[in-house]
Amino acid sequence: MDYDIAIIGLGPAGSTLARLLNPSFKVIALDKKQQSGNEGFRKPCGGLLANDAQRAFIRQQINLPTDILTNPQIFSVKTLDLQTNIVRNYQRSYVNFDRHKFDLWLKSLIPSNVTVYHNTLCKEVRRIIDGYQITYVSNDNVEHKVTAKYVVGADGANSIVRRMRYPNHSIRQYVAIQQWFSEKHPIPFYSCIFDNKLTNCYAWSISKDGYFIFGGAFPKKNANQHFELFKQKLTKQGFIFGTPLKTEKCLVVYPNRLRDFYTGNENIFLIGEAAGFISASSLEGISYALDSAEILATILNSGHPKPNKNYYQRTIPLRLKLYSKIVKAKIITTPLWRQLIMRSKFQHIKTN
Ligand SMILES: Cc1cc2nc3c(=O)[nH]c(=O)nc-3n(C[C@H](O)[C@H](O)[C@H](O)COP(=O)(O)OP(=O)(O)OC[C@H]3O[C@@H](n4cnc5c(N)ncnc54)[C@H](O)[C@@H]3O)c2cc1C
Repeated sequence: MDYDIAIIGLGPAGSTLARLLNPSFKVIALDKKQQSGNEGFRKPCGGLLANDAQRAFIRQQINLPTDILTNPQIFSVKTLDLQTNIVRNYQRSYVNFDRHKFDLWLKSLIPSNVTVYHNTLCKEVRRIIDGYQITYVSNDNVEHKVTAKYVVGADGANSIVRRMRYPNHSIRQYVAIQQWFSEKHPIPFYSCIFDNKLTNCYAWSISKDGYFIFGGAFPKKNANQHFELFKQKLTKQGFIFGTPLKTEKCLVVYPNRLRDFYTGNENIFLIGEAAGFISASSLEGISYALDSAEILATILNSGHPKPNKNYYQRTIPLRLKLYSKIVKAKIITTPLWRQLIMRSKFQHIKTN
């Protein structure tokens, strides 16, 4: 075997695992993004760091450099129900940050003993005796093959590892669309918008560094059309869009059953969104990417004789927590329940 461990994808999950693995392992990591700069693949994201992700930072003893932060830091989410026009403000302690810089920074923390190939695309993971053969295409368009005993799928919502190795464990995927505009609102804000006629998930907006980002997650059919309809409806609510400066689109996992969370088998491990680890109620996934990477690193570092079984068991609390988010999502995306909650004004902060 060329390597002990091959990590496919260096988002928050893959980079964290690569950083935490014992240096005695021979590790290769492949990632689609470039090592630095703004060219190449960038993960579309709201760039909000939730409490749970902040807790993972505390445990892993890392601090967020201030050049990753964006302006301003906002402490509430304006929540709108477009079917009833109810508006509520809920307190949140997100950190507003630049997602691309964040990903590059996490990659920069990977120790030099890990062989990292940036701007590289994994094409195939094939079973061989005692391990796996990984085919990847490097930035000069040359195809390479390496072998590894363990493979970690940390390649996000549209994971090639999950699709190739576990075609029977598919998971519901929605299309996430985000557009960037110049910020023209007098007071920057975050929002979360529900309208069951357009999606049974939700839409959001984030003010960031002079931009107004509007996004939403939709079933694949009519995604673009429903995104535009959202903007039309929100214009009537006082949202200011103007000409889009940038449009981003990607798949996002939207789990709706406990079995959607799949951790892998036969020396393949899925972490982060590739495993389905994302909150169905908020689409926050960074914390679960960090948590699952940390759990897997602990297991592999301990030399556990049955690492797949152990990883499955040790992610039970994570999976139960994410299942509770599925239940929460079902409640808040059901108009009657959502409207009851919003009408109760529970935790609503009235603005002057
Ligand atoms: C529009 C949108 C907004 C979001 N906003 C937030 C938010 O504000 N806060 C939050 O916590 N979560 C948010 N999420 C969810 C969050 O982005 C993900 O859950 C999180 O990034 C998952 O981390 P990951 O490391 O598992 O996967 P990813 O971050 O997707 O990283 C996987 C990496 O693998 C690489 N890769 C993929 N395929 C290949 C391949 N074949 N070969 C080589 N490399 C490959 C890519 O470079 C990619 O960066 C959002 C998601 C979307 C779609």
